[in-house]
Amino acid sequence: MIAAPRLAERLGAAQLLLKCEFGNPTGSFKDRPISIGITKAVEFGRDTVIVASSGNAAASVAAYAARAGMRAIVLVPENTSAEKVSQTLFHNAALIRTRGTFSDCYAVGLELTQSAGFVNMSTTFLNPYTVEGNKEIAFEIHVACAQADASAGESTLPANHEPHEIFVPVGAGPMLVGISNGYRDMLRLGLCRSYPAMVAVQAKGCRPIAAAWENGATEVQAEPNPQTIAKGIGDGLCGYAEDGTHTLRAVRTTGGYAVTVSDAGILEAQRLLAETEGLFVEPTGAAGLAGAMNAAADGCLSGKTIVVILSGHGLKDRVEPDGDSPLVDATSRAVLSALKETARD
Ligand SMILES: *Cc1c(COP(=O)(O)O)cnc(C)c1O
Repeated sequence: MIAAPRLAERLGAAQLLLKCEFGNPTGSFKDRPISIGITKAVEFGRDTVIVASSGNAAASVAAYAARAGMRAIVLVPENTSAEKVSQTLFHNAALIRTRGTFSDCYAVGLELTQSAGFVNMSTTFLNPYTVEGNKEIAFEIHVACAQADASAGESTLPANHEPHEIFVPVGAGPMLVGISNGYRDMLRLGLCRSYPAMVAVQAKGCRPIAAAWENGATEVQAEPNPQTIAKGIGDGLCGYAEDGTHTLRAVRTTGGYAVTVSDAGILEAQRLLAETEGLFVEPTGAAGLAGAMNAAADGCLSGKTIVVILSGHGLKDRVEPDGDSPLVDATSRAVLSALKETARD
């Protein structure tokens, strides 16, 4: 976890802590669920796993299956980022691109799981083991907060040592539910004293869970046509809307809420992280901060300590920088004159 005091000030929050889940072995938090899922598949003596993915679970399954000596079959929508496709192919998975959405891939994966007897690693709530892996994020947040509190002269954390709110980018929501379950376990064991509120962040173009939250509904409805640059959370939940309902319940249980973010807001958050904190995350990985920026605009964060999950590395998607890189002769003069021209703001 990294403290980001300048961004905290911008948000009007007492403290902002960034949980850097893009530092996992394959560059996204998906290594949390998948490492557990593959470990259990090995334990059960299985040799083939299948996963539907928007790209990050694909790369993770491919890598962990390679290490375990298993065959990995990976189904992704055709618009999956070239970087994630190439990462998956490097690990020698059988990668099939389909003309369909994530939900379509999910349905095919489920069918093949039942007919061909593969182990399903799709990171929804299908595999009972994968969600468990996400608890680790809660454990690490708890430990980092306790340590920060012990070493800080004047603490900005609440008296119970836990953050007030945790902002999580949400597709179907197993990451959010896993973090919430991790806190539930720590509460039961007497290791902590309160639930941080879980804040579900969804894209405006794919907001089934946020829509249900805003309408005060108890059940989530599927979104047949997801549209967002944050493809890791572009999950319309078609055919498994009850997964969204499960996530919505976790949001309510923890006293949390849902926020939506525009693609422009996501790109702004991605740029801010890179420019002010030196952290390069993919658009989906920046959605949590975009959500916190929206909550801040509504005045919701004043005096609070918040954690934002940064869920995926910037090298994984849409690597298109803002600035240009001029090409000049290799002389100091040419470089100095180019510097003058590119000086920004
Ligand atoms: C999958 C993914 C999410 C969404 O997580 P869920 O557990 O499916 O809700 C968020 N960020 C990134 C980078 C992802 O790959």
